[in-house]
Amino acid sequence: QRTREVRHRARYFAFVFRRLFRIFRQNQTLRSNIQKYYNAYNAAAEGRDVKKRGNYSKAKRRAIKGALTAARQRRYFPTMRRNAHILRLLYINVPQSLHCRPTLHGVCIIEKRDAVEIRFHQVTKSFDGRQVIRPTTLTVEDGSFTTLLGPSGCGKTTLLRMIAGLETPDGGEIWLDDVCVFSHERGINLPPERRNLGFVFQDFALWPHMTIFENVAFGLRARNDTDDLKNRVLEALRTVHLEDFEKRYPHQMSGGQQQRVAIARAIAVRPGCILFDEPLSALDALLREEMRRELRELTEALGITSVFVTHDQTEAMSMSDRIAVLNGGVVEQYD
Ligand code: ADP
Ligand code: MG
Repeated sequence: QRTREVRHRARYFAFVFRRLFRIFRQNQTLRSNIQKYYNAYNAAAEGRDVKKRGNYSKAKRRAIKGALTAARQRRYFPTMRRNAHILRLLYINVPQSLHCRPTLHGVCIIEKRDAVEIRFHQVTKSFDGRQVIRPTTLTVEDGSFTTLLGPSGCGKTTLLRMIAGLETPDGGEIWLDDVCVFSHERGINLPPERRNLGFVFQDFALWPHMTIFENVAFGLRARNDTDDLKNRVLEALRTVHLEDFEKRYPHQMSGGQQQRVAIARAIAVRPGCILFDEPLSALDALLREEMRRELRELTEALGITSVFVTHDQTEAMSMSDRIAVLNGGVVEQYD
């Protein structure tokens, strides 16, 4: 019984890997790794190795790891779209921490990040003696897509900027997972670059004098995190479908493309959470629709927490796991 099951699976994988072979003929490392995996299964299929199942699952693990490393070095699999489903077959066996995403040029591999949970406790903020944020307690679950919905001027941007550390609250505490990033009583206030968050601004906030590449690399350079800079920037651009645009300047891009650059810049630092401040309001209706879907897909693929600010109820309803309704500086409803 057991033997038959193993044989059946082996035949199935043999098929998959034969196809993969054809696709990756040019890639030596990937090929030899897959070869190893394939041989292990072949041996199992012939019943030579059935007793050593442990062995070949080890071989399998090693082969997958090697294949992925090779693929990651190339950053994407140079395949035609029609072969994407074959890759998905491979990914059935790939740890949850990785995710593949078909792009125009093939398949892009996205590493899942560790999502963070954001907790607010009695946070307040005043400007010029006027209390903009009244004592607010809120928990944003890790990995969720949470929207802050409210009319203009109700303090959404202020709340978001306080999470990112761009604004200092007057009181209360903010926690990212089990790290206290701000506490009034204990005098803790972590600077933005140490909070590991990505921020997408309402007006994109791209530097007009820098190329797209430099714009995306900006966050990494600001953190002094320049190992493998080039590859990480290109990977981020590929994730938002902007391969081959890195030499352009922002004024040579359309609004939608600029928006994607802003998103690439936010994800390039591999954050545990992305904060979006009305990112779609500068786009026309059609593009907005498309970007909503894409943003949702992307954040899901990355497996990170997203806090999305909007004043548009339809937008909130169509995208979110949870919606926090903000009014007059306080959360009125959260579900
Ligand atoms: P929203 O993003 O929900 O439209 P904001 O958070 O930007 O609202 O602003 C909330 C209120 O705080 C507004 O009335 C605004 O005038 C005030 N405000 C925001 N930032 C500042 C600031 N730096 N100085 C003074 N007042 C501010
Ligand atoms: Mg705002």
